[in-house]
Amino acid sequence: MPELPEVEVVRRGLEDHVVGRHVTRARITGVRVARRHDAGPEDLAARLHDVTVTAASRRGKYLWLALDGEDALIVHLGMSGQMLVEPADAPLEKHCHARFDFSDDGPQLRFVDQRTFGGLALSPLRPDGIPESVAHIAPDPFEPAYDQAAVVRRMKQRDSAVKRALLDQTLVSGIGNIYADEALWRAQVHGERLCSSLTKPTLARILDHAHDVMAEALGQGGTSFDALYVNVNGASGYFDRSLHAYGRAGTQCDRCGTIMRREQFMNRSSFSCPVCQPRPRRRSPS
Ligand SMILES: [Zn+2]
Repeated sequence: MPELPEVEVVRRGLEDHVVGRHVTRARITGVRVARRHDAGPEDLAARLHDVTVTAASRRGKYLWLALDGEDALIVHLGMSGQMLVEPADAPLEKHCHARFDFSDDGPQLRFVDQRTFGGLALSPLRPDGIPESVAHIAPDPFEPAYDQAAVVRRMKQRDSAVKRALLDQTLVSGIGNIYADEALWRAQVHGERLCSSLTKPTLARILDHAHDVMAEALGQGGTSFDALYVNVNGASGYFDRSLHAYGRAGTQCDRCGTIMRREQFMNRSSFSCPVCQPRPRRRSPS
């Protein structure tokens, strides 16, 4: 899954190349791309006719285009979804599932997804600018609405593993497996420590690190729209060299030189340093 920095790259590309343009025609191919849109692909295409894109927005890993009606077009990138801006006469990608033409006769917007885990759907925009279908997702660490002290208070009350809390999108959004591992490595905390066993300053430090590591990922690769062609899929290729924990099993910890380990947690791989991040003494319920 693309994580927050990769989704932000796509959002910036859409902001630069699509916002302010008027859609004259939307073509939806196949039914899977519209399966999250209850009324089906024809309805989706019809409702995307004659609308202006007013904003490209993101909360956590959720991405949407605000339309001048009262709706947002939610873009689920899934595992391999891409938003491409291309000349209308460019060869059609084999896995292109949606195409948008604009009144300026400029480049098309295309949604391409090899595996079709992604898709498009319309959702009403709330007065606060958040689509209804995204409203249950908590603000991410880059939003003005993000209240870290409140997140820390809620975490402190939980008897769940701290990594589980970091991945809980209703608590704080946008932190995926890669950046959770990086934040925990930087904070020198094992992901299976219970939130309630950690001090509030430690919880705040972990969240600060999560923000910083994602900000650094954005700083390294989040500027070029071309980059999304290769970078929107899965783990961020451009940031791999800077990772200290994720994917580092069997290599030396960049802090202490100990061989890094891989453990299973929540059906995913977790990477940590056995010395910098000792396991909790008793195996915590997760
Ligand atoms: Zn270490």
